[in-house]
Amino acid sequence: MPKPKIFWPNTPPSSMTESTETIKAFVKDDFAVTLVCPSCGTTKTVSVASYKSKCHFIKVRCPCQTLFRVQLEFRRHYRKPVDLEGFFKSIKPTGMSGDVHIEDVSQGGVGFRTTNVHFLEKGHVLSLNFTLDDKHGTRLIKEVVVMSVDGDFIGCSFTEKQAYDKKLGFYLKG
Ligand SMILES: [Zn+2]
Repeated sequence: MPKPKIFWPNTPPSSMTESTETIKAFVKDDFAVTLVCPSCGTTKTVSVASYKSKCHFIKVRCPCQTLFRVQLEFRRHYRKPVDLEGFFKSIKPTGMSGDVHIEDVSQGGVGFRTTNVHFLEKGHVLSLNFTLDDKHGTRLIKEVVVMSVDGDFIGCSFTEKQAYDKKLGFYLKG
């Protein structure tokens, strides 16, 4: 497993002391995490989006030269039960489309039921077009990958390049 490091800016890479402490840091929905140096108390907020589900331990070097380990606590995505209309078009493989009822939404993905017979399988990539029942009727088009198929219920994850959606984040808080 690689050992990623986050370097705080303007830190000369010399004469560091390694703290034996491992601190826990809670990652927010936008992948921001506030790190607190166990030695001097300096805080810094960094983005750890690139570490998502790859490595839950990182090494951080503080300007005070202390090197410490951080255990990233990624919160499980909150699933909001919903009843939204939408439709999908398949991207990989192409050629499939249909109407769907979206039954849950999270920052990580959606679960939906197809309204017709479908041929979706795990690993298929879809473009999912749906409208939130917020006051703006926000329309979202998300690329998703099918993670599970249980009869007419399809569990999907948003693809990595669209990992965080501000409109969706706002909707999930409401
Ligand atoms: Zn420090």
